[in-house]
Amino acid sequence: MKKILIIMVISIFITAIIPIILLIKYGKYEAPKPEEPEAEETISVYIKNEDKVVNMKKNQYLKEVVSAEMPATFSEEALKAQAVAARSYLESRKNAYKISGTPNVHKGADVCTDFTHCKAWVSEENRRSSWGKDADKFWEKISKAVDETDGEVITYNGEVISAVFHSTSSGKTENSKDVWGGDRPYLVSVDSPGDKVSPKYKSEKELSLSEFCEIAKNNIKGVDFTKEIIGKITRSDAGGILTISIGKVTIKGTKLREIYGLRSTNAEIKVDKDKVKFDVKGYGHGVGMSQYGANYLASKGKDYKEILKTYYKGVDITKLKKEEN
Ligand SMILES: [Zn+2]
Repeated sequence: MKKILIIMVISIFITAIIPIILLIKYGKYEAPKPEEPEAEETISVYIKNEDKVVNMKKNQYLKEVVSAEMPATFSEEALKAQAVAARSYLESRKNAYKISGTPNVHKGADVCTDFTHCKAWVSEENRRSSWGKDADKFWEKISKAVDETDGEVITYNGEVISAVFHSTSSGKTENSKDVWGGDRPYLVSVDSPGDKVSPKYKSEKELSLSEFCEIAKNNIKGVDFTKEIIGKITRSDAGGILTISIGKVTIKGTKLREIYGLRSTNAEIKVDKDKVKFDVKGYGHGVGMSQYGANYLASKGKDYKEILKTYYKGVDITKLKKEEN
């Protein structure tokens, strides 16, 4: 009986007391953790219509940009080209702001949702509701374009480029120098044959002569219509208006586009008695990748790298190095 009692006491000591002693001596025991997946990079986004800055996962932001910038019905290779261009644009902005500070419109954010300043953006929730029954299929397609090109950017001489893009060119893209000044050797005029079949290729705008003159008077200082309505026009290689004389005052083509709300600067203007008619080719600033042109090239069997190298000259597609924190 005594023997059994001794064995019991020893067993209790081994199973219960020893671990407690060890725990007190060596502190809390922790099981080895499974390796955590690398935290996804976040960026700060200024949402203009809500006037607030939010942090978003980078790839989620890019998916939302692609879904806002390009129809989900476009080819997968065109969507991938769009994803890489949008990622490159984002990285080049971030690099530029590191040096010069973020502009006032951004409230310190990496990027904003004003498409005239950065890129178009729509939340996944809003985009899904606009897609209706196709929401899952389309979101999956766009997600794939971003995920399969994860980390890929366009570089020129090792620097991530400002990969601007537009809807539809006039059949030829514009030199960035002609539109914004400054020389960007990778943003030069190239042929974009697919644009001629884009539904956005042609547009018209007609105003009465008095409306035309009124808009000019309100936006251009010193116009005088007693001597001239429209005078000398200079054009880029692609046919976009560089300068135009209206009422004896010369303005830039970009200003003409802005004040008359034209789809591009590539316009023919006819003054006919009491009417002014604009025949416009293309949609957007015309610089860099044409989205409809990209989709056309994809339909001809080009992959996203070939598409990007068509629109951005002398570039490489490379994997972004992870930032060292
Ligand atoms: Zn912006």
